[in-house]
Amino acid sequence: MGPFPALVALCALLLTGCGERAAPSIEIEGPTMGTYYSVKVARPPLGMTKDALKREVESVLDRVIAEISTYEPTSELSRLNANPATDWIPISPELYAVIAEGQRIAALSDGAFDITVGPLVNLWGFGPEARPDALPTPEQVEAARERVGWRKLELRASPPAIRKARGDVYIDLSALGEGYGADRVAADLDARGVAEYMVAVAGTIRAKGLNPKGQPWAIAIEEPLPDRRAVHRIVPVSDRAISTSGDYRNFFVKDGKRYSHEIDPATGAPIERNLGSATVVGERATVVDGFATAFMVLGEQRAPALAVSHGIAAYFIVRDGDALRGVASPAFEAYLARSTPQKRAADTSEQPE
Ligand code: FAD
Repeated sequence: MGPFPALVALCALLLTGCGERAAPSIEIEGPTMGTYYSVKVARPPLGMTKDALKREVESVLDRVIAEISTYEPTSELSRLNANPATDWIPISPELYAVIAEGQRIAALSDGAFDITVGPLVNLWGFGPEARPDALPTPEQVEAARERVGWRKLELRASPPAIRKARGDVYIDLSALGEGYGADRVAADLDARGVAEYMVAVAGTIRAKGLNPKGQPWAIAIEEPLPDRRAVHRIVPVSDRAISTSGDYRNFFVKDGKRYSHEIDPATGAPIERNLGSATVVGERATVVDGFATAFMVLGEQRAPALAVSHGIAAYFIVRDGDALRGVASPAFEAYLARSTPQKRAADTSEQPE
């Protein structure tokens, strides 16, 4: 046995042998980004309190909102959107990082994912503006489409800057912003020495280490049903991020037809797919959040093909008439095979998850 396992065993002996139990886990939650966050910390560092953790996490999320929210008129992104300049505009490294990730996913998805889709999102009533009573006219859709296209943005890494091909290009980072928020909270917890946590911002989750029961964090994928909530399957997640996008929560119905918040830049209209939801597992929450939306826009044929060709761990729920069919990419199957729950051998404390 090498020195590291011996050290682990020794620590465990000291902790349990002296009759000490690990500190109880901490759970916090609250509103953010027009949705909710929750954070669970298993075995928190000595001295960490619930109030201090809440203050810390909310200040990180508030900073993210101040950087990338289109719902906050004074955010850096809103100021960039309002800036009509077509020469280089300096941006913060943080805003640069999210936009660059969005551009990478746009290129990989052949423009199905497009962070300039905002004018269409707003036109269909899914953005910060109030939803109009009438559906947009084809002329309005065409006018909005002229402003859309990920190639209308040029990025410069050093010093970070962006150039728009038209002054009225509008950037919407909602499709990966929740994941970015989860990554930023995770980075903050890492810096504070928190070794085991789960951070959720809406449907995007980043988990590290094991849960209070000493097992991988158990994350539920819902059935893509608009009228009720039911668990489709549980995915164990440890040292990974997971995100689900779907067409079953954020939509409106007009004259019997359902309009989803995910817009196909190729048509300028909400997607119409048999794909109920797409779940992606990977290292960073920003990335899996963006790919989950990209897959929804690509649909039930093209999304699994992209997941296979790029080795992305993805799980799709496809509607077959009234039935639901799960489709796992090979990388997702391999991930599940590797993640068979293993209870922490050294931990004897029993705590609720
Ligand atoms: P996802 O599938 O992750 O993303 C779908 C969203 O992506 C759409 O709603 C649209 O905005 C965009 N999109 C649609 N089509 C495409 C496409 N083809 N390519 C790329 N993007 C596309 N909402 C509020 O109501 N109030 C707020 O104060 C508020 N603040 C926010 C602050 C931040 C920093 C962020 C990131 C979002 C905020 N939101 C707010 C938005 C809200 O949380 C969104 O509903 C959410 O971000 C969409 O995430 P989702 O998980 O529902 O769907």
